[in-house]
Amino acid sequence: MSRKKVAISACLMGTKCRYDGSDNRDVKLLGKLEGYELIPFCPESFCYGTPRPTMDLIDTAQGIKAISNLSGADLSTPIEAYAKSFFEIYPDIEMFIGKDRSPSCGVCSARVYDKDKNLISNHESGLMAKEAKNRGIKCYDAESFIEQNPAPPICGD
Ligand code: SF4
Repeated sequence: MSRKKVAISACLMGTKCRYDGSDNRDVKLLGKLEGYELIPFCPESFCYGTPRPTMDLIDTAQGIKAISNLSGADLSTPIEAYAKSFFEIYPDIEMFIGKDRSPSCGVCSARVYDKDKNLISNHESGLMAKEAKNRGIKCYDAESFIEQNPAPPICGD
């Protein structure tokens, strides 16, 4: 019998793909996912390399966008394209585990700011997580999954 496929932020598995070249390896999380087929992703490293400048989600006139903290450029489009193609390559993903608070991977923990960098919300979805949710995949922030497994976290859109 084939194992359930789980999409997971690569940094949680130990890939050194964070903006500063570090990782977020989470042994406790990985222990809870034994028996699943883990398929890692990192939209930011794929699109912008590692190391790279940080980005934040900003509520703009065009909607919520990932904006570079270095240049102010809108970095959203390549990340959204990566997310779409990832789920097209893996149409049978059954669960998504994202790194908490990431503007790409956070499921219901991403922070959104206004254009003056005032915090508007800290329970939004990052760009990749949003694509997963739109496809009806069960999505969890890593910390919630560890705490509440197997119940899904309470999370708005
Ligand atoms: S949180 Fe997501 S985008 Fe950031 S390093 Fe981890 S996998 Fe990459």
